[in-house]
Amino acid sequence: MPNHSDHLWQKEIAEFRCEMAANEMLHDRHDEARRLLDEALVVNRKCVRATLLLGDLAAKVGDGETAIDCWKRIEQQNPVFLALAAEKLLAVHIQLGRKEQGIQLLRGWLERHPSLDLLDSVFRAELDNDGAEAAYALVRDELRRNPTLLGLDKLLEAQILVAPPEKRADLELIKNLIHNHTRRVARYRCDACGFKARQFYWRCPGCGGWETYPPKRTEEFDITI
Ligand SMILES: [Zn+2]
Repeated sequence: MPNHSDHLWQKEIAEFRCEMAANEMLHDRHDEARRLLDEALVVNRKCVRATLLLGDLAAKVGDGETAIDCWKRIEQQNPVFLALAAEKLLAVHIQLGRKEQGIQLLRGWLERHPSLDLLDSVFRAELDNDGAEAAYALVRDELRRNPTLLGLDKLLEAQILVAPPEKRADLELIKNLIHNHTRRVARYRCDACGFKARQFYWRCPGCGGWETYPPKRTEEFDITI
C-alpha cells in the first residue's frame, strides 16, 4: 500500500513541475524550464508530459535533433501518448529537410500502436507528400487491420478525394451520415472516472486525476458486430 500512494504522489509532483515549466517556457526562461523538467523526470521517470515539454523546449531553441530524441522516448514511457508528439515530430523533420524520414517514423508508430489520432497525422502527411491515392491506401489498410467507425469515417474522407466527380455527392452523403454518428464516439475518456471530453486534458476535470486521459478516442465501436 505505501508504494501505491508514493507512486501517486510522485506523479502529482512531476505534473506540478511540468505546470511550472510550461509557465517558464511561456516567458522564455528556458534554463529554469529545463531544470524543472529534469526534476520532474527524476521524481517520475515515466512522466510523458515532461519528455514532451523537453522536446518542445529543444525545438523552441532550434535544437531539432534533441527534440526528436525526446519525443521518440515517449514510445518507451507510454506509447498511448505518441499522438501528442506526431505533428511536432513531422514539423521538425521537415525543418531539417528530412520529411521522408519523419513520415517513416510516424508510420512505424502507427504500425506498432494504432490509434485514430496517429492515423490522422500520417494520413495528412501522406496526402501532402504522396497524394490522395497513397493516403487512401493507408487508411484502407488501417481500417482492415482495425475496423472502427471512426476509421470508416476517415476512409470515406479519403475516398471522396480519389473518387470521380459524379460519385462524390453520394459519398458526401454517406460520409455526413457516418460523421453525425461518430461525433458522439470521438471523445477522450478518463481511465479513472470515465468522464468524457472532446479535448485532451492532462488533469481530469471530473476527478482531478493527473494523466488519466489516454489521448485516444473511444473508438472501440467495432463495425464488424
Ligand atoms: Zn477522471
